Amino acid sequence: MYIWYNYNIVARLFHYKIINDAFGDPCILIRLFGEKRSLLFDLGDIRKIPFNEILKITDIFVTHTHIDHFIGFDQVLRAVLRRPEPLRIYGPENIIECVHGKLRGYTWNLVSDYPLQIEVYAIQETVIKRARFHAHDRFKIKRLHSIQLKNNLIIHEPLFKVKAQVLSHGIPVVAYSIEEEFHININKVELEKSGFNTGPWLGELKKLIKQYYYYDSKEILKAKKTSNTVKVNTPKGQFKIEQLFHILKITKGEKISYVMDVSPTQENIQKIVEFVRGSDILFCEAYFLSKDKDRAIERNHLTADITGSIARQAEVQELVILHISPKYIENPQEVYREVELSRSGSLQQG
Ligand SMILES: [Zn+2]
Ligand SMILES: [Zn+2]
Repeated sequence: MYIWYNYNIVARLFHYKIINDAFGDPCILIRLFGEKRSLLFDLGDIRKIPFNEILKITDIFVTHTHIDHFIGFDQVLRAVLRRPEPLRIYGPENIIECVHGKLRGYTWNLVSDYPLQIEVYAIQETVIKRARFHAHDRFKIKRLHSIQLKNNLIIHEPLFKVKAQVLSHGIPVVAYSIEEEFHININKVELEKSGFNTGPWLGELKKLIKQYYYYDSKEILKAKKTSNTVKVNTPKGQFKIEQLFHILKITKGEKISYVMDVSPTQENIQKIVEFVRGSDILFCEAYFLSKDKDRAIERNHLTADITGSIARQAEVQELVILHISPKYIENPQEVYREVELSRSGSLQQG
């Protein structure tokens, strides 16, 4: 059965699904509630994602193109080939060449009337290089002008933002975080008291608030200059947004971070702690046990004690371990135990 994990209270924006167990390829699908749209973090073995779910994926965030993080590209391509909505792929500095190479592996004489467009974003420290591939000209590469990367921000939509942090895994690797700035809940009691019926207009109201309001640095909701002219159609006629605030409950939005395949260096660890700070959920690797630290250094992976300590230092609410070396398949509990001991501070860092 296909279950969507809806954590905390209902009506969260981000609904995530872990695709494989910790010994399979790491991959997270996040469905945006009420949007018929999903986001995918890493693109390894995605055979467990049904075709109709792949069709909803608009943005894919690839950490790096080792085969366990990128082999699923063909399956996505097959599913979205006739789709009019573009597919956006974000990844490390070589992602454009990797997507290009995949596309060059097929013969494309029959797709000229297909609408599909693939936009690829290669994330570096301060710049994002871009390219576009269009089915109508047989996926020839079209390089677009680069954009500056500021404050790690790669996507800023009214509903959410995505940040990227370049790290090292022997090769460049990218960590991601997705955040909803603030979350809007409907106060059902107030709604009824005011004589409003529920309906699609509430979704419209939420969208307008996301568009015309923002959270300031003290987490207070502020109106943008243009907001006072905006009205929303309700079952009782048109209202200004401010007139409807009493039926809303605004809370801080969620932050989900995703960090895979990282060398166990101090530089990486410091960057990760800053980057994932305050996450509601951190998806992270714990590839080796600390007793195999030499191997971890050689293979450029984190150890369980480091992962636990990152979660503690960054005050992460929930830590989900996704990527564990197959050498521990007989006893994964040892890995989880080391993570938890380190996270609670009872493990001495060696
Ligand atoms: Zn790797
Ligand atoms: Zn990996």
